Amino acid sequence: MSGRILVVDDVATNRLILQAKLSSAYFDVLLAESGEQALAITMAELPDMILLDVMMPVMDGYEVCRILKSRPETAHIPVIMVTAHNSTEEKIRGLDAGADDFLSKPINDITLFARVRNLMRVKMMFDELKLRETTSQELGLSDFLEDHIFNKDETGCVLLAANNTDQAKAWAACVKSRLPFRTAVANCEEEATNIARHDTPDVFIVCQNLANGGDGLRLVSNLRANLSTRQSAVILVVEDGKMETAAKGLELGASDYIHAPFDPNEMVARLRSQMRRKKYSDRLRSNVRDGLKMAVIDPLTGLYNRRYATQHMQRIIERSGESGMPYAVIMMDLDRFKSVNDTHGHEAGDKVLKEFAHRLQENLRGIDLVARLGGEEFLVVMPDTGPPEVEFAAERLRNAIDRMDFDIGDGNQIPVTVSIGVAFGGPADKIPSVLIQQADAALYESKATGRNRVSYFATAA
Ligand SMILES: [Mg+2]
Repeated sequence: MSGRILVVDDVATNRLILQAKLSSAYFDVLLAESGEQALAITMAELPDMILLDVMMPVMDGYEVCRILKSRPETAHIPVIMVTAHNSTEEKIRGLDAGADDFLSKPINDITLFARVRNLMRVKMMFDELKLRETTSQELGLSDFLEDHIFNKDETGCVLLAANNTDQAKAWAACVKSRLPFRTAVANCEEEATNIARHDTPDVFIVCQNLANGGDGLRLVSNLRANLSTRQSAVILVVEDGKMETAAKGLELGASDYIHAPFDPNEMVARLRSQMRRKKYSDRLRSNVRDGLKMAVIDPLTGLYNRRYATQHMQRIIERSGESGMPYAVIMMDLDRFKSVNDTHGHEAGDKVLKEFAHRLQENLRGIDLVARLGGEEFLVVMPDTGPPEVEFAAERLRNAIDRMDFDIGDGNQIPVTVSIGVAFGGPADKIPSVLIQQADAALYESKATGRNRVSYFATAA
């Protein structure tokens, strides 16, 4: 794993020691000797991670961290605070400033690399999500995210898995008294997995030792392997005091760890930090998903839109070029649709369009492309289909609309018909718009010769 890490420390020796360690593991290292310089380099270089000394003159590490976490450009860059002491107060102050973890001097190599690799994976996941989100934004499809949600507590669900239920309940009470989170308690792997199945927790707190000899590390690994809990954060409670256990946990996919016994304040601070990160990535994911959906789906009918249809038709044409199989392009237009809107209102018109889309889908195959091009105009492309089947399908579609009246609400029903134009494509055809024009010409003929009928574009051949 590679990446660029900014090392910030006012003491040259400390910078050089960290630089040597990180370089030997093939990370690129940037150096800053003050808080001000750290901010400037971060804005200019956008490193993947920052190792930040707490004690520095003028601007200390807490302040640098707070500033970085308040800026949308830098809020998602993981920050590891490097402290001379290892006091709980210091950790809580750092977590409140938005720090992702702590290392104490002198720095232990196992701790350093376990942490750095873990946070580097998190950073890459965020980068990937942000990249996809940028694409959606460029397409004009999703709003800019509020990166500042790092400073806000939202509701969420926490599952505590401990080796005794009383202990877990005490933690849950402590969490509930300070954070707006729902909590659940389990004392073995099976119980934890069962609870997670019904209401997926945002954060798991998992003890190294579970009841009846259960293994917390195995639970961590299972949570990561399971599709429904893969995105949840996991805090491992290390009970044997060994750094190797914490490192193993991180390697298996824990997002954070805490050594037991712990100060409840530290647990609350870590939990809050993990919950914010989880909510942030949830939001990125759903923005991307909604953006992509909006890019290709007509919201009224749920059919593909023109943008998608044109792209996909190109692919169908290319495939036909390879396979030599024929395909058909079918244009459809509802007859006298304007009068439905004028007579019964737009709500009735929308109902008709939805029902129309539904009947189309019911009467076509999964592999057929069905799209609403706009207004009352629809396109169907049937790959791997020759003239006899297409004629049969087109007539079936016309009949599916004609044979039963459309419900427009309030117990009212109206007859609806559709005019259809068909063009046949083959391996030699290259351009979607030409075929659409041909189908359109056939559609015009259907309209001109009485509507509620199917016409075919006659090729010269
Ligand atoms: Mg210092």
